[in-house]
Amino acid sequence: MNREPHTIMLSALQHYAYCARQFALIHVEQAWSDNCFTAEGNILHERVDSGVAEQRKGTRYERGVMLKSQNYKLTGKMDLLEIKSGEPAQYLPVEYKRGKPKVDDWDRIQVCAQALCIEEMRNIKVAEGAIWYWEVRRRENIQIDEALRTTTIAAIEGAHAIFASGKTPPPTDKIKRCRACSLVDLCEPGIFRRDHSNAYIETLFSE
Ligand code: SF4
Repeated sequence: MNREPHTIMLSALQHYAYCARQFALIHVEQAWSDNCFTAEGNILHERVDSGVAEQRKGTRYERGVMLKSQNYKLTGKMDLLEIKSGEPAQYLPVEYKRGKPKVDDWDRIQVCAQALCIEEMRNIKVAEGAIWYWEVRRRENIQIDEALRTTTIAAIEGAHAIFASGKTPPPTDKIKRCRACSLVDLCEPGIFRRDHSNAYIETLFSE
């Protein structure tokens, strides 16, 4: 897909939030490897994307809506936009995820970034979003509040900074995340961490 320079995919923000190195490996170095989790996620999104817009009672459901933000240099496609009629109408971005609700904000950041795009494109305020988790068949409603906006904008800025530098950060210090990471073989976090600790010890003894 042709994109303007340094425009970041909305879906890339969850990679950055999970691990800045993962973001750089995928989006700067263009390294990628599917594991069973990502493959199932792709199948789920193909199913969601195949739908068409429909109207039920007072709500219009638009699927596979393209989004863009000039302010934040973002682009991407959202799974579902719910538009509840009223004065004013309420816009609610909905993202479909394969797994379960998370304690961390990785998934919520993506929905908040979608909300920022919708606000800019349609000149409206988005107060809520939602994530529908396939594994547990549960919908989590999300408040697009100031705290989430601040976290999301920090993630967007961090991702742009990596893109601009072209440098891949070191592995995350949250070692447990590496176990579920599809890039663990390409990343080799253990070797990188060992090399760094060796370098650190050498620095200590040379001083
Ligand atoms: S293996 Fe660990 S450090 Fe490497 S990209 Fe994945 S989460 Fe990040």
